[in-house]
Amino acid sequence: MTKKSESKIERLDYPIKTLPNGDTQNLRVFRMRGTGPGPKVYIQANVHGAEVQGNAVIFELMNFFSNHEFKGSITFVPMANPQALIHKSGTYTQGRFNPQSGKNWNRNYTDITECSHFNLNEFVNNNNNNNNETENVANNFKEYLYLSLEKERENLSKRGLSEDKSPNLILQELAAPADIILDLHTGPKATRYLYAAEYAKEKVKDLPFPFTLLIPDEYAGAMDEACFIPWVKLKEVYEKQGIDFKIPIESYTIELGSEEIISMSEAKSDAARILHLFSQRGIVPEKSLEAIFLPKTEQRVAMLSDYKTYYAPKGALVEYIASPGEFVAKDQPLYRLLNFSNLHHEEDLGECLQEVLAHEDCYIINHCPSAVINKGTALYQVMTNTFKF
Ligand SMILES: [Zn+2]
Repeated sequence: MTKKSESKIERLDYPIKTLPNGDTQNLRVFRMRGTGPGPKVYIQANVHGAEVQGNAVIFELMNFFSNHEFKGSITFVPMANPQALIHKSGTYTQGRFNPQSGKNWNRNYTDITECSHFNLNEFVNNNNNNNNETENVANNFKEYLYLSLEKERENLSKRGLSEDKSPNLILQELAAPADIILDLHTGPKATRYLYAAEYAKEKVKDLPFPFTLLIPDEYAGAMDEACFIPWVKLKEVYEKQGIDFKIPIESYTIELGSEEIISMSEAKSDAARILHLFSQRGIVPEKSLEAIFLPKTEQRVAMLSDYKTYYAPKGALVEYIASPGEFVAKDQPLYRLLNFSNLHHEEDLGECLQEVLAHEDCYIINHCPSAVINKGTALYQVMTNTFKF
């Protein structure tokens, strides 16, 4: 029997947008504190409006932590982008791009290391790590990150904050003190996979989702990168001084299947995988997971450069033959196109259908959710040259 935790859910509402009628749109942030010191975890979901499954996973995790003891603290931000959530086109949730600017909501984060007031050399000079005081340095750096993000907000606010920057800066500030950052997304029609930075590749085995894409230790605008890049650069500055510094934080984007789907049963498996990571980091004791079913998973990994996209060779209707998660061997069919432009006589009927084969062995990660496609539409995203953990 596990003892019921003393922790309560604390709720903080952050006003993120005022509407023309004077109403305010809020970000709802929930925090749970454990029974002793331990890692700080930050989990957000649904920055892209149609990618909703992470909210169900947050619910499962809150439920777990309401009933079990844990160490440290956890900040949950479900529905982290309320304006994207209500961005509908017919019955479909668009929610990937800001309709006013056209920008992808997950490319709007700030690379704080590129801001003029952020000075890594100065920080390192004030925080020499000679005695391997990584924990002290890390705490000071988290504080510095938070204050730098606040300063950036202040600077940008002088002429008003853009709708692209404002909500994302709040999310970054909330994540700045965290040791583990999880940004929960989904693909269009997708299997379950995660993005992990190359520096953290050894740690990925503790987060047993079936597929992992290893991304370079570089900034490309996404939340996971915005969180880990300052640490990568901090390590580089220490290394130049001949000082070893192990990056103490982990930051992942997890893709939980397909958009527009809530599955409470899948959310239990998703939460079990995340709880496994937490048990390996000392947040929850392994014995408290005994009653939780962790799906047995073979983990496949590929470099981002081996993540390949198939684009439609022509406009057509498409039948997706290969499904997310499936292995497809070279020259096996991926998809079929239906197009009537070559039909003039009944003997031409065969010309209407075209089957497209896999160029090389691959695992299907994503496919486009629509059957109606133009030439050049991204149809499939596949992993090639995968290796097993
Ligand atoms: Zn997304």
